[in-house]
Amino acid sequence: MQSEYQHLIDLSDYPVAWWTKLLDLGVRIKEDPAAYAHECDGKIMATLFYEPSTRTQMSFQTAMLRLGGRIIGFDNPANSSVSKGETIKDTTKIVSSYSDILVIRHPLAGTAKAASLTADCPVINAGDGGHLHPTQTLTDLLTLKIEKKTLSGLTIGLCGDLINGRTVHSLCKALSMFKDNKFIFISTPELSMPAYIKDIIKANGSTFEEVNTLESAIGRLDVLYMTRIQQERFATREEYLAQKNTYVLDRKKMLLAKKDIIVMHPLPRVDEITTEVDEDKRAMYFTQAKYGVFARMALIMTILSENKGSETLKGKVYSGVRCGNPKCITNHEEYLPKSFRSSGDETLLECEYCDERKLI
Ligand code: ASP
Repeated sequence: MQSEYQHLIDLSDYPVAWWTKLLDLGVRIKEDPAAYAHECDGKIMATLFYEPSTRTQMSFQTAMLRLGGRIIGFDNPANSSVSKGETIKDTTKIVSSYSDILVIRHPLAGTAKAASLTADCPVINAGDGGHLHPTQTLTDLLTLKIEKKTLSGLTIGLCGDLINGRTVHSLCKALSMFKDNKFIFISTPELSMPAYIKDIIKANGSTFEEVNTLESAIGRLDVLYMTRIQQERFATREEYLAQKNTYVLDRKKMLLAKKDIIVMHPLPRVDEITTEVDEDKRAMYFTQAKYGVFARMALIMTILSENKGSETLKGKVYSGVRCGNPKCITNHEEYLPKSFRSSGDETLLECEYCDERKLI
């Protein structure tokens, strides 16, 4: 299925050269943001946030305003026709006809992909459930490029909720495309990195290791990426409480870290980094959030200037087969074609919206 518009649903839909060009632009914007103040004069960006957000929503809005464009949208679907039962298809169809670029966040995996099938402008995935968060990854890559001066040869520790954390899924997929990166996953067995992400890392030639304490890994890391335990994605409060407070980065643990480690976090922080760490010059999370505006300015400019169209669904609809993930958009909006990729023998299918695997 071909869309007239160029969307950003997953960074993997683009070659690495596209990301690096965009990051180079992000660096130039950071050096002199005022030089880009009229790049989007007359353009309108819509932000549809079906899930809470501070940084992603506001940094997108700031980015568009700093480029000279204007913004519309909602951050509380209860105040829109969504509360009357309107589908993603209808809402995005209409809002995309009012705007030049549409940014969407939703609690269900695959929603940005679903929106891109019918939208009349480019769609940007600002987080789809526990699945992906490509624009956080652009922010993270820009931070690494500026602060570590490289995207290769790094040992990166990812700590916390690796199963539900969409930021770490997108980030690992992206960083495994660069040479000699090594991942150390620090989590409990219940919150470990999904198998499909590990398979992508291996297929891209990167390596990973899994440990369950911060102390056993921190001394080896160039980058520590902390994450919040994603309370909203647990089936029960008991399951969440069993994981809460497992990993806490404090001043004492920072003593074990390299002198030039950088500590990142997509934020919001709950209690996984104590506030005393904020004073450490290796704490990079507030700077990282600031760089999110430059990354998103570069993204908006790139998408609006290229607008080459993109392939949306590449897979096949298998009669009677549904995605097994209850949090996939295809199990909530019936009209969507249930499209799957196959690994060759057609017995293992992968949902094109949420990447969940299914044996048939
Ligand atoms: N802000 C990030 C996200 O939207 C991280 C988080 O919520 O924990 O995924």
